[in-house]
Amino acid sequence: MFCPICGALSFPDSKNNIKCPDYKCGYEGPLSGPDGKGGKFIDPMSGEEIDLTNATAKNATKSLKHLTEVVEEEVARGTLRIGDYICPNPKCQKNRVYVWMQQTRSSDEPETKMCTCESCGKKWREYQ
Ligand SMILES: [Zn+2]
Ligand SMILES: [Zn+2]
Repeated sequence: MFCPICGALSFPDSKNNIKCPDYKCGYEGPLSGPDGKGGKFIDPMSGEEIDLTNATAKNATKSLKHLTEVVEEEVARGTLRIGDYICPNPKCQKNRVYVWMQQTRSSDEPETKMCTCESCGKKWREYQ
């Protein structure tokens, strides 16, 4: 929790009132600020405007989302292979292709090799 006046890190009491630890500020009152509208504070590190009334929850969601995106991106693109595959798109035919193995549901079916062209984004599959 942060002071709605100066943005200093503060700890709320049981009624969600905070007492600012900065003696120059000395704010005491609700987390939403003296006018009840909520504090806005510019993060000195990122320059981002933060709504102090829900800063903690919002930041947690943001970092989780970021993690998920990174993982999905890795799986979706596979490994970049240069020269092993040719894009089947007649207008493209580039040889820089992302390849990954996709496990099929039943074990008697062979694995499917999935390919994505780096240049035009065309996806195709290749059975072994
Ligand atoms: Zn303060
Ligand atoms: Zn292509």
